[in-house]
Amino acid sequence: MQDTKIDFSPKCDACAALCCVMLPFDGGEDFGFDKAGGVACKHLKAHACSIHADLEKRGFAGCLRYDCLGAGQRVVQEVFAGQSWRSDPSLTEPMEQAFRAMRRLHEDHALLDAAARLPLTGDENAQRLRLLADLDVADRQTQASLSAYETGPKPRAVRDFLAQLKARLRPRR
Ligand code: SF4
Repeated sequence: MQDTKIDFSPKCDACAALCCVMLPFDGGEDFGFDKAGGVACKHLKAHACSIHADLEKRGFAGCLRYDCLGAGQRVVQEVFAGQSWRSDPSLTEPMEQAFRAMRRLHEDHALLDAAARLPLTGDENAQRLRLLADLDVADRQTQASLSAYETGPKPRAVRDFLAQLKARLRPRR
C-alpha cells in the first residue's frame, strides 16, 4: 500500500473535465437540458466551462453542487497517465467507467470517515475501521482494480454497514 494520503478535494487543473463529459444529467431545476453520459456538455469549451461564472443564473446549479471527491484527477493522472478523451476519443468509454468506479471508491471512504462522528459502539467502530482499511483507497488504481472494486463485494459491505447504523440510530417514536 502507498503511504500517500489521498486528497479528496477536486483538482480541476489536473483533470480533463470528466464531470462535464462522463456524467449524464436530466434537464430540470438543476440542469438546463438533458445530457447523456460520455458526451461533452455543449457549454464545455477548450479546457473550461464557458458559463462558469453564471451557472446558477443559467439553470445549472447542479454543476455547482457536484463534487467528484478527488476522483477526476486520479483517473486522469494515475489511471491514464495524463492521457484523456480529448486527445484520444477511444478513451472516453474506459475513462467513464474508471471515473464512475473511482468516485464510488472515494465516496465509500468519505461515508465511512463521516460515520466516525456517530455514537458507535466499540464493535461498530472496529467494523468501520476494518471496512476502511479494506478499501485500499490509497493504493495505485488501474482500470482493472477499479472495475474489480465496483463489481466486487466491498461497495455492498459498506452500504450494508451504513444501513445497519441508520436503522439502529433512527430515533424511536
Ligand atoms: S454547464 Fe459547465 S460545469 Fe456544467 S456540465 Fe456544462 S460545462 Fe460542465
